[in-house]
Amino acid sequence: MRILVTGGAGFIGGHLAEAFAADGHDVVVLDNFDPYYDTRIKDHNVEVGREAAEAGDGSYDLVEGDVRDADLVADLVADADYVYHQAAQAGVRTDYSPRKYDEVNVDGTLNVLDAAREHDIERLVFASSSSVYGKPRYLPYDEAHLTTPISPYGASKLAGERYAMVYAERYGVPAVALRYFTVYGPRMRPNMAISNFVSRCLNGEPPVVYGDGTQTRDMTYVADVLAANRALLDTDAADGEVMNVGSTDNIDIETLATEIRDQLAPELDVEHTDAYDVDADHSHADVSKANDLIGYEPTYTIREGVEAFVEWYRENREWYEPLVRNS
Ligand code: NAD
Repeated sequence: MRILVTGGAGFIGGHLAEAFAADGHDVVVLDNFDPYYDTRIKDHNVEVGREAAEAGDGSYDLVEGDVRDADLVADLVADADYVYHQAAQAGVRTDYSPRKYDEVNVDGTLNVLDAAREHDIERLVFASSSSVYGKPRYLPYDEAHLTTPISPYGASKLAGERYAMVYAERYGVPAVALRYFTVYGPRMRPNMAISNFVSRCLNGEPPVVYGDGTQTRDMTYVADVLAANRALLDTDAADGEVMNVGSTDNIDIETLATEIRDQLAPELDVEHTDAYDVDADHSHADVSKANDLIGYEPTYTIREGVEAFVEWYRENREWYEPLVRNS
């Protein structure tokens, strides 16, 4: 199969591209190496993808370009059997203007959808986000929960997701949207809580929690996200559907920081700084719909995932840590 992974030099896209290439597929990555975090991580992700293709029977091609370039996107989608649309201005906390989120996450997505409407593809998988929910009316969130995002990022992901579902309904595009819940793991974006806590503790610095640490999160290990995406190669059961992809294992940020501290540097205190007002207080996934439709079942508890990440971090400390410190 020929698989286009937009944003394939990024964290999640990098894992998808690596896995698909290792499985023997022909992978094409479209990424503009947006410098909102250190792009050396993206260079590394590309290396890993190329090595996976060489080790397996697959191929790996990198196209440096922008999802806002409609002609380029149309050409790439025309050649693809599957499209995994991961490219986005990611993260609720970046200081980009709402227009940047809109241009990349909404217009860029429309380019992909228009191309998918023109060309027969097997499936289009859109990377959505738990941030579409906003403040919880009840927890865990199921997909019927109100969507009232509280950040420009969340609003743009919701718009992209809604367009994907409209294109599925009206134009027959076989689109699926996966609402990811805080994804972490090897090669994760350096500006996220787990990479920061681990890095600071290993360097004898207290982990810093935003706010009072009572915020709760469903933290999803990247291997589980990969499994959900892989399942969509083999089934059309979720076409036209939005599904939560989380771990269901909930933790508050104070406990997360304290446990990482206890494991890596018990002599340190946990420190606190101001909370970000675009962060949801709580997020918790009900994944029964994804379980019903595609057999999705998270396999990593947060403690297991953090342990796996710390092990990877230690092995890759030399190149990865300076990038976390630099973010
Ligand atoms: P990431 O930033 O590592 O990956 C996104 C990639 O898209 C980057 O490599 C970036 O260079 C690329 N990109 C950005 N703008 C682009 C453009 N205009 N044209 C082409 N490429 C562009 O982020 P990630 O954590 O891997 O997230 C992947 C997807 O999953 C995103 O759509 C994000 O919104 C979504 N998501 C991530 C999480 C998470 O916790 N990591 C949670 C919910 C949703």
